[in-house]
Amino acid sequence: MNLFAALLFRNRLAAAGAVVLSIIGILALLTPVLPLQDPYTTHMGSRYLLPLSPGHFLGTDGLGRDLLSRLMWGTRLSLAVGVVAAVGAGTIGSAVGIVAGYFGGRTDNIIMRFVDMLMGFPYILLALAIVAVLGPGLMNALIAVAAVNVPFFARNIRGITVGLAHREFVDAARLSGKGHLKILVTELLPNALPVIVIAMSTTIGWMILETAGLSFLGLGSQPPQADLGSMLGEARSAMITSPHTSMVPGAMIFLIVMSINLLGDGIRDALDPRLRSGALARPMAATLVRRKTVPGPTGEGLLRLDDLSAQFHVGKRVYRAVSEVSLALAPGECVGLIGESGSGKSVTALSVMGLVASPPGVITGGAARLEGEDLIGAPYERLRSLRGSRVAYIFQDPLATLHPLYKIGDQLAEAIRCHHPISRSEARKRALKLLADVHMPNAAARLDVFPHELSGGMRQRVGIAMALANEPDVIIADEPTTALDVTVQAQILALLDELRRARGLAILFITHDFGVVGQLCDRVAVMYAGRIVEEGPTAEVLAAPAHPYTARLIACVPELGAGRRRLPAIPGLPPAVDRLPEGCAFAPRCEKATEACTKGEIVLSGAQRRWRCIHPEPVA
Ligand code: ADP
Ligand code: MG
Repeated sequence: MNLFAALLFRNRLAAAGAVVLSIIGILALLTPVLPLQDPYTTHMGSRYLLPLSPGHFLGTDGLGRDLLSRLMWGTRLSLAVGVVAAVGAGTIGSAVGIVAGYFGGRTDNIIMRFVDMLMGFPYILLALAIVAVLGPGLMNALIAVAAVNVPFFARNIRGITVGLAHREFVDAARLSGKGHLKILVTELLPNALPVIVIAMSTTIGWMILETAGLSFLGLGSQPPQADLGSMLGEARSAMITSPHTSMVPGAMIFLIVMSINLLGDGIRDALDPRLRSGALARPMAATLVRRKTVPGPTGEGLLRLDDLSAQFHVGKRVYRAVSEVSLALAPGECVGLIGESGSGKSVTALSVMGLVASPPGVITGGAARLEGEDLIGAPYERLRSLRGSRVAYIFQDPLATLHPLYKIGDQLAEAIRCHHPISRSEARKRALKLLADVHMPNAAARLDVFPHELSGGMRQRVGIAMALANEPDVIIADEPTTALDVTVQAQILALLDELRRARGLAILFITHDFGVVGQLCDRVAVMYAGRIVEEGPTAEVLAAPAHPYTARLIACVPELGAGRRRLPAIPGLPPAVDRLPEGCAFAPRCEKATEACTKGEIVLSGAQRRWRCIHPEPVA
């Protein structure tokens, strides 16, 4: 609730709407006790008095009645009618929609065709027809307005329910023996409630307007009782001679409807879960950088990270996803970055090009240098010109990263034309060449297929072709083979290896599989809880791991033909990165750990081979 209020009030317009509406609402509630004149007492001697006349702050109407008092009572009536109509329409419509969506089939068909029929009539005509049948009067106007809005709620909520009704939690509820009514009330309603509330809050204004419209035509509230609409209607004859009599209720209707709509929009935004987690602020174009000092380069390298730290700031919590990672990539070199899920590999990779979403991501220290140029905190335009052209990414799931509605050829051409202003046909030719380069079978025909028509391996080939589109110097591959089966994985690895040798590409290869590292990488860095715990040439690390964690990881890789042995799992879980322990983060799971392992900072020592451990395994 607190978060909701904070989000709502961050939206200035919604906050203004809330303030205006609360003032009007409180005044309307207090109307009976305010020292107002009687709204019905006529004074033929003081007709059409102007505002600020003595005794009549807003003047008087055509029968000499005090306008301020009539305005307050009218507002009270209009608000009450609007709220009752919205709640009524919302309740009935949502109930109809949930039932139709949940039962589906014939029930759904019959209900929704009836709803469609109602929606087929012009809105206001239908309301007029209903009032014509029931007879004029405020209650009947309310019923008419509510009735014409029921189909709107029914359609909306039915759509939501259809999406929910086949989800596993509903199946689970059914399996647990819950009856239909119970499922509707306890499983579906809570999920649809935010949408119902949003729909109500955005339609109240509309309903007040419609009721006012009916009253204006004389079909709503009957004299002497007046809501805002009938006040307007009564003032119609004096519109030119005494405009204030229509302006007063007109301005109030405007204020109410405007503030309700602004507030309703704000509520919708604040309740939308997609906007809620990332706060209402949209992600920034590049990751937020908040670093005090810039470390100097600690060595050579085409791309090098120096003491890079990245965190997520969520409320008061700080998730230290990446802590002081240093890593270098030489031209033509393939470096493996390996670690368990959640160890910070992806965040490290995304930080390089400022691709971590902010909020909540913050780069809190370090540098990422491409040929000596620091990219952390570089202007957005500079990053944009480098993204994809000098440093390209390959992601794990190409089905999620390729656009589902564009053909492969068009997407490749777009990637090229993003950095090179060449003609469409030329880009298409290059796209074809790229597909051939990644050994896409029958490349020419594949230009015109959609991503879903390709197999997983072929899609990943498209992902690689996309990364190669602008001849980058560095490719960062984030678990590109994790979603593939082993034979396709072997083909993709062979392709990457061939490409890097042919083009001198530097590859940062992220994986959680030591087998893959052994096949492809010249060097390997092992990450644990956001830190590099060991780094060195792949062959040496594989032959004699120094850090106990690396040793345990390697022991987990099965070997074909190596005889029968137990594959030891590592007991325990990695620590949560918002509560990292002091000392070595692996100590609680390590059999060699001693007192000293849980104190102070344990540094990454060594030169060619480095490890962060005070009891390393023996290394030749
Ligand atoms: P992986 O090594 O599997 O690629 P990531 O780099 O994706 O791991 O994540 C590193 C850590 O950052 C994880 O512990 C994760 O919980 C944390 N993290 C990632 N995104 C967010 C976020 N939006 N908010 C809070 N923590 C996050
Ligand atoms: Mg990852």
